[in-house]
Amino acid sequence: MDNGKDKKQLCRLCSSSKLSSILKLASTPPANAFVSKENLNIRQKKYPLELFFCENCSHVQLTEVVDPIELFENYVYVSGTSPVFVEHFSNYAKDIVKTYQPSLENYILDIGSNDGTLLKFFKNIGYKTIGVDPAINISKKAQQDGINTVNEFFNYKTSEKIKEKYSTASLITANNVFAHSDDLIGITKAVRNLLSPNGLFVFEVSYLLDVYQKTLFDTIYHEHLSYHSVIPLIKFFQSNEMELIDVLRINTHGGSIRCVVKNIEDKRQINKSVFDLVDLEKSVSLNNKKTFKNFTNNIKERKKSLNDFIKELKSQKKTIAGFGAPAKATTLMYEFGLKNDVLDFIVDDSPLKQGLYSPGLHIPVVPSSSIDVLKPDYLLILAWNFADSIIRKNKEFSNSGGKFIIPLPNLRVI
Ligand SMILES: [Zn+2]
Repeated sequence: MDNGKDKKQLCRLCSSSKLSSILKLASTPPANAFVSKENLNIRQKKYPLELFFCENCSHVQLTEVVDPIELFENYVYVSGTSPVFVEHFSNYAKDIVKTYQPSLENYILDIGSNDGTLLKFFKNIGYKTIGVDPAINISKKAQQDGINTVNEFFNYKTSEKIKEKYSTASLITANNVFAHSDDLIGITKAVRNLLSPNGLFVFEVSYLLDVYQKTLFDTIYHEHLSYHSVIPLIKFFQSNEMELIDVLRINTHGGSIRCVVKNIEDKRQINKSVFDLVDLEKSVSLNNKKTFKNFTNNIKERKKSLNDFIKELKSQKKTIAGFGAPAKATTLMYEFGLKNDVLDFIVDDSPLKQGLYSPGLHIPVVPSSSIDVLKPDYLLILAWNFADSIIRKNKEFSNSGGKFIIPLPNLRVI
């Protein structure tokens, strides 16, 4: 360990050392490392952001691992503050209960349970629930809201402790966690350890096919160590005595997959969805590293069109502010060169981020009420996957002549 940094040389899924670089983005500080005013003079450390392809199993991943304690302990992302995710989790809980009917005898465990938003919906349906989350502040909040939360990283040791106290789980969920962990083999062994014989493991992750086809390069940041696709996952679970039996494509984060996994001994059949997605991935050569040359070119093209447009606006002395400060904004801002000479401030609805400064570039984050006061000419939507709802909620801005810039998947001005 060097400053909490560790260089990983082996594939996170198959342990092969045959990893080749397919994309190199601008180095950034941790994407959620917002800074308070008193810490502005401390220079933030930047880490390389380079994507690697495994020649053995075709899994796409970062090799640079930033110390999880630095990334997650004072995490400022709270699921419950985003209405889109609250609705998503509500439907998610209902769908799983309807489709798979997990036993009410055992409990439902959520790994990376955040503020307990998902578990609350399961609890309302009548399930016993347990959350596991390493973030101190957010776990405390979940606990206060009545969601039993174990404040730890989920690993084999944690699974043993929980098993001893509460027995096995009928369902284990993990959302935007399976992409975040450096030790997927360890997590999977812990899941298998804690799951009832007929229990299911359900997780959601960004889908590499969407990342590639829609140029969602800003979903690449240090917290996301893995960019999953179905072909490598099938082999991975088989080698860990589990089996991928269903995959559903969903809209979150610009395109994700919900994967359902069972113990190998369980007799349930593999759903056609798994085979269909394998065919689809093969049809676009997602399992061939040469494919990612297009990805690099697509990013360059989008960078150029946005920068040409901004240059023109700046020559007309127009003012621009950012809208939304999600983690992905850090990658977007660094890769596209959106510094404080481009963006005067960033608006974000999360009170946890307001009053802070953006990671590394130190652009102030303010509440949306500031738009009326500071009156920028343009709002560049950094949280562009929520562009529609942001535009709808800020009609007054456009009514008074303001314009929205949406940088991805293709540059649009509204
Ligand atoms: Zn591999």
